[in-house]
Amino acid sequence: MTLKLSDPIFTDAEASRLWMEAQRWPNGPVCPHCGNCDPDRITSLKGKAHRAGLYQCNECREQFTVQVGTVYERSKIPLNKWLLATFLIMSSKKGMSTRQFQRMLGVSLKSTWFMTHRIREALAGGGFVGPLGGEGKTVSVDETYIGGKASNRTYDKRPRKKMAVMTLVDHETGRATSRHLPNVGALEIRDILFTNVSRKSTLVSDESNLYHYSGKAFARHETVIHAGREYVNKDGFSTNRNENFFSLLKRGIYGVYHHVSEAHLHRYVAEFDFRYSTRTLSDTERTALAVKGAEGKRLTYRRTRDATHA
Ligand SMILES: [Zn+2]
Repeated sequence: MTLKLSDPIFTDAEASRLWMEAQRWPNGPVCPHCGNCDPDRITSLKGKAHRAGLYQCNECREQFTVQVGTVYERSKIPLNKWLLATFLIMSSKKGMSTRQFQRMLGVSLKSTWFMTHRIREALAGGGFVGPLGGEGKTVSVDETYIGGKASNRTYDKRPRKKMAVMTLVDHETGRATSRHLPNVGALEIRDILFTNVSRKSTLVSDESNLYHYSGKAFARHETVIHAGREYVNKDGFSTNRNENFFSLLKRGIYGVYHHVSEAHLHRYVAEFDFRYSTRTLSDTERTALAVKGAEGKRLTYRRTRDATHA
C-alpha cells in the first residue's frame, strides 16, 4: 500500500478511523485503560446515540476509541486531518512551515501549531527502543550551534542566543538521537552519552575536552581533528554522518522554519532525528511508524510545561 494525498484516509473521518484501527490493532481492539484485548469482553457501541468507532470495555467498564491513549486524543480536530498532518511531516524532506501546513490542512493557525507540535512530540525516540551502539559497533557524537547570527536576517537584527544541539549517530543502524544542550559541559554530555549509548561501543568524537573523560568509559574512543569537513582519521573513523545530519537540520531550521525558539527546539530536533533515522523507508512506511509512535505519548505531552501554543 502506498499512501497518496488523495487517499480517503486524509479526507474522510470514517476511512481514517478504519485505517488507524488496522494500524494500531491488527488483532482487534485493545482497551487503552486496562489492556483487555478479549474480543468477547469488548463491545462495539453502534447506533445513532454513539460516535462511530466507540467501544465499551466489559472488564473495566470504560469506553474508548482508537484515538484514546495517543497524541491525537481529545481534540475537536478530525482524525483524517491528524493523519494528513503526520503524512505531510513524514514526506517533506526538510520540514514544512506552519503557514504551509495551515494552507494544506485547512484548519486555523492555532490548530496547526497544536497539531504539528503534538506530532513532533510523538516522534521523540524515533520508534526505536534501547541504547545506540553495542559490542563491536560504532557511535559518533558531535555538537553544533543553531541561531545566533543576526547578519543573515533581513529584519530583526537583534542577536539571538546560540543553542547547542548534540547528535549521536549509530553507524550500524543509521539511527540519530539529538539533544538540546542548555549548558554545554562535560558533565551534561557525559549524562547524555551514558544514558543513550552502550558502553561496549566505539565512540567517535572530535578532540574536544568535552569528550575526553566520558570517552574513556567506552570500549574504544576514536578522535578526529575538526579542521576540514571531510576528515577521516587514520583508522577510518569519522564524524561525517553527524556533519550531514547538522546540514539537514540547519537547512530545515533556517530555510523552512526561519527561527525556532529554545522552548520548542527539542521538538524540531526530534522531527529531524526521526526523518534521518528512517531515511531508507518510504513515505508510507515512515508515516505508519509515526502513527505507531503517537501511541503512549499522551502522558509525556501533558507533562511538558511549554505547550503554550496548544
Ligand atoms: Zn478496560
